[in-house]
Amino acid sequence: MLQDMLTVKITPTSHSLLESVDWNNLPFGKIFSDHMLVMEYADGAWQQPEILPFGNISIHPATSAIHYGQSIFEGMKANKTEAGDVLIFRPDMNAKRFIESSERMCMPIIPEEMFIELVRKLVEVDKDWIPNREGFSLYIRPFLFATDEFIGIKPSETYKFMIFTCPVGAYYSEPVNVKIEEFYTRASVGGVGRAKTAGNYGASLYPAKQGQMKGFHQLVWTDGKEHKYIEESGTMNIVFVINGTLVTPSEESDTILRGVTKRSVVEIAKSWGIPVEERKVTVEEIVTAAKNGSLQEAFGAGTAATIASIAKIGYRDEILELPPVETHTISIKIRTYLDDLKAGKVEDAFGWCLKV
Ligand SMILES: *Cc1c(COP(=O)(O)O)cnc(C)c1O
Repeated sequence: MLQDMLTVKITPTSHSLLESVDWNNLPFGKIFSDHMLVMEYADGAWQQPEILPFGNISIHPATSAIHYGQSIFEGMKANKTEAGDVLIFRPDMNAKRFIESSERMCMPIIPEEMFIELVRKLVEVDKDWIPNREGFSLYIRPFLFATDEFIGIKPSETYKFMIFTCPVGAYYSEPVNVKIEEFYTRASVGGVGRAKTAGNYGASLYPAKQGQMKGFHQLVWTDGKEHKYIEESGTMNIVFVINGTLVTPSEESDTILRGVTKRSVVEIAKSWGIPVEERKVTVEEIVTAAKNGSLQEAFGAGTAATIASIAKIGYRDEILELPPVETHTISIKIRTYLDDLKAGKVEDAFGWCLKV
């Protein structure tokens, strides 16, 4: 049955936009490849997936996702190696997380192998859109939303799964200044923080904007109950290096999104013999470590930027300065290794890259 469903119907575009791309100016997420994948869910089953020319979709005003937020997404990257092979980084992890998000949001599940195959197929069709340049990649955005035309509140019976891709430039992220947030909450126990669901991002905009007005790029989210424990930074996971040990909030709580990048950072660090502690991390210990100099590095980890070094941490009325980011040797080494791994420049010792 899975085999049947995986016959993807392909309608190629008659006018590729590839020639019109300005490769020297690729704003993140604004340039779209020629094709998109669409697969409907109806009558309790996934319908035949189709790859079509990228374009608008028409939706009914009562489409339930718009009103009640049954909407989830994923983000991952594909790269081209020097030899021209196409590699997708850990799509199995995204497939598993998509299943978790679906379950939490009462949405139908796409089996792992099917999700990976649909991603692979679309990337294969638009492989010429993968930039052939150092640091550039193809960002892949799978998403699923409820399509019942009904304004009663209940799980939708119909859904649309789609994937599109965007060529993106080298994400050079300036060191970021972050503010420890002690009032607003990203997620609370029993909520939907672990799901990559649309509403989480809408809800974070206002607090993030307040922080930006005070000069911070991102917020460091703390637990919703006591604001005592550190959870994430913006839409990235957060990692610290304290006295040579990598310290990061454990993911046992359902308030933390389980990032593929952070998981990879932890696995790489362990394989290099760097001590790793995944545990509850208090605001107090980070503030103390920043003041006594034992906090050597801090960074956000996520697919878009890989690793975003943190330069300053705002805490109440204080600004805690970290050592200059050039001295963040552990995170710099991990970032370089991860980028090389994704681009096929080093041996794939972990077996993380799927060759298209
Ligand atoms: C997507 C996301 C991350 C990072 O996950 P990756 O799989 O590494 O891209 C972290 N936190 C939040 C809230 C996210 O949405």
